[in-house]
Amino acid sequence: MTIEQLYTIFQQYPSVQTDTRALKAGDLFFALKGPNFNANQFAEKALAAGAAYAVVDEPPAAANDRIIVVKDVLDTLQQLAKFHRRQFNIPFIAITGSNGKTTTKELVSTVLSATYKTYTTQGNLNNHIGVPLTILRVQKDAEMAVIEMGANHQQEIAGYCAYTLPTHGIITNAGKAHLEGFGGVEGVRKGKGELYDYLRAHDGTAFVMWDYDYLQNMSKGIPTIIKYGTESGDVTGQLLQSEPFLSVGVTSGEPFTIQTQLVGAYNLPNVLVAVTVGKHFKVADGLIKKAIESYAPSNSRSQLIEKGDNKFILDAYNANPSSMKAAIENFAAIQADHKVLMLGAMAELGPESLQEHEQIVSLIQKFAWKAVVLVGGDFMKIDHPFIKKENALQAGEWFRAQAFHHSFFLIKGSRSMQMEKVLSETGASH
Ligand code: ATP
Ligand code: MG
Repeated sequence: MTIEQLYTIFQQYPSVQTDTRALKAGDLFFALKGPNFNANQFAEKALAAGAAYAVVDEPPAAANDRIIVVKDVLDTLQQLAKFHRRQFNIPFIAITGSNGKTTTKELVSTVLSATYKTYTTQGNLNNHIGVPLTILRVQKDAEMAVIEMGANHQQEIAGYCAYTLPTHGIITNAGKAHLEGFGGVEGVRKGKGELYDYLRAHDGTAFVMWDYDYLQNMSKGIPTIIKYGTESGDVTGQLLQSEPFLSVGVTSGEPFTIQTQLVGAYNLPNVLVAVTVGKHFKVADGLIKKAIESYAPSNSRSQLIEKGDNKFILDAYNANPSSMKAAIENFAAIQADHKVLMLGAMAELGPESLQEHEQIVSLIQKFAWKAVVLVGGDFMKIDHPFIKKENALQAGEWFRAQAFHHSFFLIKGSRSMQMEKVLSETGASH
């Protein structure tokens, strides 16, 4: 079956599903394979559950005209996404980077939604399955699409671009994240830079954080560059306050301020690029302000939580050396008595892992804290003067035993450390 033929079927059955557990009647089921699963074996089950068709790459035992056999299901999904993408002559804005992709995606799409019918990545569905599914969800009335792209190795972003065909792009930053897969910071920059490469070759537009020299360099030769920054750029803005919620002053054009619901000075570039994209597409300043002010993060991404007389910045969604450093420095700058750090180890750092944890320990030692608890992983292997706990549950027990009052906590760690358990499984949650 050709992609054109499959596209005709998709137009009739536009709800694409890859998970049998979530199937609804009329879905178009794609049987994907992973290292630990092979959905080909669920094709019949999907049809029994009401799927209109099942796309497989292992021929079924008995022929069935509702089972479509292709060479490679994942590749077919991506080609279908590309075919669908081609139906739209609207901006497709791709967002990648080491940190802040989802936050930036949410802010940019919230701003654009004030004026345009905008389709965007749901949650964090930013991989080789999530990106095509996101594209396939874009409907006829679309005026804008905002697509998050996650990557942890070379050629991944180039792959997404080949079927997303972005017209615009944002690299939030390119620092120490997924060092293992990319091979060091230079490797990270090369990998994320594949988005700029695509825009350069396809008459694209990049929104570039002009404070970062490396992004300036990487973006050279892109046909249209829109700059944002704290000092210079087409759009400029500064941090007015971050204790704990950020307020941002936009200083280019008619000045205005934005009182966000975000904590962490590292969110400043995320806010600025949302302003920049909004202004570029002529969203009124008042609507940009209102949209950004309305956005509150969820899902343990730099959430501010108050329980009793204690306050917590819960940032347990992920951690890597860049975001850990940004979070600690931001927290150190907040004016408060009784600040406590509870930090979980950082994962996926490869051979530099021990050294990166040592650097975090040195950074912590530059500031005064009421207490510091370091949890799990390489934090356990380093000699340091701080409290060591094996895992988040033990850190939670320690926390409960202290009976803190009027204290302010930064809780952060890699997803696998589940640092949110410090709060959820202790007395602090009631
Ligand atoms: P993932 O790779 O899991 O998709 P992401 O890039 O989408 O992550 P977010 O989910 O937006 O990132 O943010 C996760 C965390 O990264 C935040 O809670 C914060 O600690 C940190 N972070 C967000 N923005 C920045 C930034 N601009 N610079 C450094 N750290 C940031
Ligand atoms: Mg994300």
